[in-house]
Amino acid sequence: MVIRGLIGVTAALWAGSVAAATVYTGDTIQGAPVISQLDLTDLAPGKMHRFMFRGAETSTGQYWYVPVLVAKGAKPGKRILFVGGNHGDELNPIGAVQATFATLDPAKMSGTAIALIGPSRQGVENITRTWTINDLGGAQINPNRSWPGRENGNTVERPNWLITTKLIKGNVDVGIDHHTGGTGIDFARFVFAYANDPESLKLGGLFPVDQIMRDPGLPGTLEYALVKAGIPAVTTELGGPRGFVADMVQLGVDGNANVLAYYGVLPGPVGKTAADMNAFVGDDLESVLAVAGGFVTLLVKLNDTVTKGQKIAVQRNGFGDIVAEYVSPADGRVAIIGTDAATDRGTEIATILVKRDCAGNACDFGGIVP
Ligand SMILES: [Zn+2]
Repeated sequence: MVIRGLIGVTAALWAGSVAAATVYTGDTIQGAPVISQLDLTDLAPGKMHRFMFRGAETSTGQYWYVPVLVAKGAKPGKRILFVGGNHGDELNPIGAVQATFATLDPAKMSGTAIALIGPSRQGVENITRTWTINDLGGAQINPNRSWPGRENGNTVERPNWLITTKLIKGNVDVGIDHHTGGTGIDFARFVFAYANDPESLKLGGLFPVDQIMRDPGLPGTLEYALVKAGIPAVTTELGGPRGFVADMVQLGVDGNANVLAYYGVLPGPVGKTAADMNAFVGDDLESVLAVAGGFVTLLVKLNDTVTKGQKIAVQRNGFGDIVAEYVSPADGRVAIIGTDAATDRGTEIATILVKRDCAGNACDFGGIVP
């Protein structure tokens, strides 16, 4: 029912004609014109364009602005959206998108690349997964459970709606939403791709990752909102949170380059892909959550192959006594590990990517969140 409802909302949002024109507010910030609506067709081809996209108001009546780069090719072609910072504590994605755009020469492109840098504006400022709004002292809103947004929603839902309807709609053919594990966890080189969309699965395979999950669609994610609007999309996981880790930034850059080459936006050949990494393709995630409080010693690493019943962690109290031992719930690969040794009840020990071949092509999400 929830999914059905979301699809209805999504379809209504994306219906109708494309944006009529790029709307300039008349303001300039950091040398970039402020826009409240983007229409690629009225931008000069063969050039890199910079904008500040005006989001919702802050709690003091000013505005949040999202940096946008548009590399509009000299020739027409596919229009690819690259997003980093949908979650504010996931920064390798921002490094990857910036590095990709630093190398783009629109004069040599056939098609367009659009970069959205840190749409979770407050989250990126504070390096937090959630965006805290002043509601009874502070409500923590997950931006990547708030797509495609709501016109009259809160300060997180509203800008997502603006981005959906005033920036993406009519301008985007393919979407890449880069993520990492959140604070306190670390993620393998991983891609989520919607199991029932062959083009999204192809897209996911363009990233040289170790693991791919054929996912059932998670309501509220940008990936799922795009896919339901008919736009192939994936969610990547480029390692862990908070920093710029060179290997993980490069993973994003390499995948971005493959996407641009695959769709003919750049002339170059497609480089190393998931197939070249012999990626493990699963369709379910099984999490091991702490059943006690205490210090956790992990016995496995990211991307290790594990078998059902294999001991993967032990947990100790302050005296060093073992209070719990944890085993893998299934055969699979280690996709996520908890990185905060001091571990609360109910929080992440590890998550295993499992291949179940569920009926209908996709298993349920089991509460696991990208
Ligand atoms: Zn994320």
